[in-house]
Formats: sequence, structure tokens, C-alpha cells
Amino acid sequence: MKSVIVVDLRLKQSNQNNHTSFNMQAAKGLINWIKMGISEVTSAIDAEREARINAHAGVINLEFGRLKKGFAFDAAVEKFGISGGDRSAVAERVYRGFLARTWKDLSQTDRETELLSWAAGCLGISTDKVSQLNQEAAANAFQQVLVAALADNQINDAEAGQLSQIAARCGFTVQTMMATFFEHKGEALIRSAFTQYSSDGKLERDEWKQFLQTVEQLGVPRDKMLHAIRQPARQLIEHVLADARSDKEISEREEKVLSSLLSNLIDDTTFVAYVREQIAETKWMAEIEKGRLPSIGSPPEAALRAGEIAYYSGPVRYVRTRELSSGKKTEELDGLAVITDTRFILSATDKSFQISHRKILGHRLSSAGLEIRSDGKGAGTYSFPVDHDKAFTIWRVAIGRANQTIVETGTNNTRHISRDVRQRVWQRYGGRCVECGAADYLEFDHIIPVAKGGSNSDSNVQLLCRKCNLKKSDRI
Ligand SMILES: [Zn+2]
Repeated sequence: MKSVIVVDLRLKQSNQNNHTSFNMQAAKGLINWIKMGISEVTSAIDAEREARINAHAGVINLEFGRLKKGFAFDAAVEKFGISGGDRSAVAERVYRGFLARTWKDLSQTDRETELLSWAAGCLGISTDKVSQLNQEAAANAFQQVLVAALADNQINDAEAGQLSQIAARCGFTVQTMMATFFEHKGEALIRSAFTQYSSDGKLERDEWKQFLQTVEQLGVPRDKMLHAIRQPARQLIEHVLADARSDKEISEREEKVLSSLLSNLIDDTTFVAYVREQIAETKWMAEIEKGRLPSIGSPPEAALRAGEIAYYSGPVRYVRTRELSSGKKTEELDGLAVITDTRFILSATDKSFQISHRKILGHRLSSAGLEIRSDGKGAGTYSFPVDHDKAFTIWRVAIGRANQTIVETGTNNTRHISRDVRQRVWQRYGGRCVECGAADYLEFDHIIPVAKGGSNSDSNVQLLCRKCNLKKSDRI
């Protein structure tokens, strides 16, 4: 019943995400569940036979112990009236018992190997079957040692030696043992070890070294390792990125850490490009916030005055809704924007206008765009289809400079959220946006803005993605 629920959840998840790997997982889960179902049915039908074979194996085992070297399987089979159909099953059951006793201490001596081989011969079990049973028993012991070894999240040399000895008893190395019996469990164990190191939002050099050593001792190749840690590695990088950006700046050190994480943990170029873009954008925005506006030369869309400096040019959409006596009237305009040190210029096919930064009475960012209040022309909402964040910020800073108001810099300490708070908030929301559950473009957000008296404590900080953060500004 439990398995059915697991399968259902996975299928549901795969529908939502439409993700192939989930579909495959779901399929595997389903197959395992069906297999399990079949074996349960089979064993239910054969319950009577099972009991009989167990009973036979018990008496044969006693007889073996009593006669020792003098034991003969044929004679015992006849003595206890074991039918021809049960014969090999009883022999296997007895041999499994020997294996279990041998491996109880999680090791097998040369003497034990010899005895097992002799017993298998006495019981007339085929060589293939013996080797299969030996492998199963060794794999079982291997797994117990592996789990115990990983309790401290790493495998030391002694533990590696023990694993290697167990594997060698059935002709395996640690690597081939892992690949043959623990391919999926191995990935899960590696992922779990990595997650324990990375869940605090950082990966120390020593932790990474220990992790790599464990991976190497288990003989897991790099591509398999990267695949196994795909999710937690991305989460770690998102966490480090959000941490770094919480002060609206990325220091040289933070950039170095991110670069090193990317090159060590990620082999997906799309994700690397996304993170690099975030870093570049944050640095670029920090420069603008400091008042270092970029000069772009004279754009062809507008005739600049002598000495006027252009900061930005790109497509813009302008919307203005007015209440007239005849009713509501909405004006929409698509054109090109140029932002300079003194004004904003909009050029469209049938209309062009400009607003001096000094004529602007106020501005406010909303999900619709930048709302401009002005006593002259140009009041309305502006959105920029390309580079909207950049355009907003440039315009806002240019307005501030033209009006000589103090530009808020990113290094303002009053809105600094401490690392402890960030760590707890990240854990609280599981590295996801509180509004929509997105796991990327995450930002630490003051629920009540610092400017309105909000604090930097746990209760006033949440995790929002950029889209939801922008939407939130509508409501404040
Ligand atoms: Zn969101």
C-alpha cells in the first residue's frame, strides 16, 4: 500500500514538472511495485511449500552439524523423506543459513571460505547458484559496512579497507561492487553526504575534500557524482548567490566562491550562464546605484544637446489612463527611449515627447512598470521589454542625481540582514519563494521595508523570487 502512494506522488510530480527524469523515476517505482506485488502473490500461494522447505532445511542443518565431515546430502534427503521437487530449494536454504552465520561479523576468513565451498559441494548446489548466493551475502555485508561508515559522512582508510575485503570475497573491487549492486543507492548516499555538507549554505574546502575522497573511495566517476548531486548543488549555489546579493553587491571574494562552486559542481552550461549573468547584473546594478552611470555615446533615436550624456537607449512601452468627463481614456505608445543626464526622451512613429528629470514629482516601481508622476507631460507608466531592471535603475538614479537627492547606496548598513538570519530564513522556506515556490532568482526581502520601520530580524525577512518581489511593490 505504501508503494502505491509513493508511485502516485511521483506521477503527480511528473505531471506538474513535465520532467523526463521524474517520469523515469515514476516508471521505475511502478515496476518495482509491480515486481513486489508479484513476489508477494507468489509467496502467498506457496506459503505451504515455504513452511515445508524451512522445516526440511532445519533438520538438514542439524544433521550436517551432527555428522560434520561424514554428512551426505543424498542420504539425508532419503532419511527425512524430502521430495525431488524440494531438494534444491532445501539445499539453497541450508547454504543461505551458512552464509548468514559466516557474514554475521561482517567479514569472511579464508577458513570460512573453504568451509562454504565444501558445504556447497556437499549440498550439490550448482556453481552459478553458489556464486550468486555468495555475491548476495557479500553485498548485504558490504551495504551494512557502507551505511555504518557513512554515519560520519566520510569513509576513512580502515573502512575503505574493510569494504575492499568484503568485495574481494566474491571477486569484486569496491568500485565494481558499487556499480553492480548499489548504482542507485550509491548515488543517493553520495547525494545525502553532499547535502549534509552543503545545507548550511556553504561548502568549506575541507568538506569538499572529504566528500571527493568518499566519492573516490566508492569509485564513483565524476559525471555520475555530478549527476547525483545535481539538485543540492544547484540549491547551494542559489543559496550562496542570494546570500551574496542580499546587500545588493557581489564582492570579489563572493564572486570567487561562486566561480569555484560552478566549476566544481556544475556541468550544465545553461545553469552556469544563468549564474554568471546574475553576478554580472548585480555588479552592474551596484555600480549604477553608486551613481556610476554608463555612458553609451550618442544614440540615433534622439538629437542630444551639447554636453548631454546618454545613459540608456532601448524599446519602451508607455501607458497612461486618464479620467475625462467623457469617461476613462487609455493612451498606449510603443517607441524608443533614451535616458540622459537631464531628461527622458520617447520617440514613437506618431508621437514623441520628453520629460526633464527635474519635472518629475515622484516615481514608484510596480509590476506594470515605473509609474511617473509629473505636473507636465509624460505622467504614466513606463515598461521596458528589454533590460527592464537596468532601465528602471538608470532612470531612477538619473532622476535622483538631477534633483540632487541622496542616492541610496547598496552598502547601506541599516538594511543589512545578518548571515544567521539569512541562514534561518533560507531553511524556513526550504530555499524557495514563499509566494510561488520558485527556486531561482531568489532574494531576501524585508516584509516591512526598512524605510518604513521594518527590522532585519527573522520575523521581518522572507524569501521571494524577483518576479514576486516586484509584484509585492504594488501593494506597499
Ligand atoms: Zn515567486
